[in-house]
Amino acid sequence: MSNMIYPTTNFKATETLTIERGDGAYVYDNEGNQYLEGLAGLWCTSLGYNNRELIDTAAEQMGKLSYSHMFGGKTHQVGMDLADKLTAMVPVENAKVFFGNSGSDANDSHVKMLRYYFNAIGKPEKFKIIARERSYHGVTVAAASLTGLPPNHTHFSLPFDALGVLRTDAPHYFRGALPGESEAQFVDRIVNNLEQLILKEGADTIAAFIAEPITGASGVIVPPAGYYEKVQAVLNKYDILFWADEVITGFGRTGNDFGCTTVGIEKPALMTLAKQLSSAYMPISASVIRGDMYEAMIEPSSQVGVFGHGYTYSGHPVAAAVSLKTLEIYERDNIFGHAAKVGEYMQKRLGEFRDHPLVGEVRGAGMIGAVEMVSDKKTGAGFEGGAVGYFAMQACQNHGMITRAVAGNSLAFCPPLIVSEAQIDEMVEKLGKALDETLDFVTREGLI
Ligand code: PMP
Repeated sequence: MSNMIYPTTNFKATETLTIERGDGAYVYDNEGNQYLEGLAGLWCTSLGYNNRELIDTAAEQMGKLSYSHMFGGKTHQVGMDLADKLTAMVPVENAKVFFGNSGSDANDSHVKMLRYYFNAIGKPEKFKIIARERSYHGVTVAAASLTGLPPNHTHFSLPFDALGVLRTDAPHYFRGALPGESEAQFVDRIVNNLEQLILKEGADTIAAFIAEPITGASGVIVPPAGYYEKVQAVLNKYDILFWADEVITGFGRTGNDFGCTTVGIEKPALMTLAKQLSSAYMPISASVIRGDMYEAMIEPSSQVGVFGHGYTYSGHPVAAAVSLKTLEIYERDNIFGHAAKVGEYMQKRLGEFRDHPLVGEVRGAGMIGAVEMVSDKKTGAGFEGGAVGYFAMQACQNHGMITRAVAGNSLAFCPPLIVSEAQIDEMVEKLGKALDETLDFVTREGLI
């Protein structure tokens, strides 16, 4: 331990693991034990550890220009190059990008840009944002308010009322369907709830709808077929912008370039990117907006003198150089194609656990997945609290694999995109042992 206040940690928990180094898809602790990184750190180390090209790129850029800012007309080539490369990749029309340091601050930038934009076009009352239950959008005040998970609100007096966050259903059929409801009926019901919410609040008060195409931290929720098609139809009808939070799903994670492609979200107006943008070698994020939104913001910025929003590290040259190299490697080495192929294999192998007595549902797409443990396989009833998930996560760790228990008792899998099928086999073998041990544990404790 140390004097550090640990992020996203139970302060009473005493178990720690000191990670010392990483190589490829593996990390090593301070006693030399090897672990397969089943979650790519926090869903981010796409190219794995100790990638020589990224290390050299960072070192070279540090030697050339370790820092320079972008305020008030200053710029640097590597930042501009990254902006152009990135905006050419995303499905946002005439995209423009604002750089930040984390997914959370990128979402805060979006909240502010939405306000700026709607003020600019004479609709200041159009500022509310619809966010979903069981969503994760970060932890800064605005991002945490958008997040739909109790631990990010309780004791923090959040959500922050003035933000105008409206809450709608998560597309989580396994946990949200009514008895006997088909997937299609479930989708119709929750999309109808969305429309009723819009009618109740007034469409002219609502700026945007934010969604992770497939969620991560809340348990890897893959919406039923047709969900986004219907959501987009409703949003278009009421002139509400679609905001895709692709912090986890961006860059090949779900079997396509972006999660939007995988789930049929067409032309989002806003897109949030971070994590795999730099393969987590440097902290950097991107708030992407549609070109016409940017155009509308030009005149008011000139009236005030500046667009009064920017971070010291917006477009940090070392982070930008590393990101640019990351995007080059993705393209050159066909990393998304590899991830799609191995991801399909991962889904097939994880799917084998559907027959395990402890497993209620296996969800996923491409190279992201979750295995949810339940106390009653027939009814899908879950375990109280998160002790079972924690036990299973520790069991994985004892077998040399890192994962995280999310949404209580789901184990999440999101390995570096570079993993091989043999490493997926290794992951599955370790998970199998951990699940069997967890079954023994819950049987022993009378939880099942
Ligand atoms: N959005 C999503 C979808 C995320 O998964 C995360 C982080 N897990 C964030 C935003 C916040 O990113 P950060 O932790 O970099 O602030």
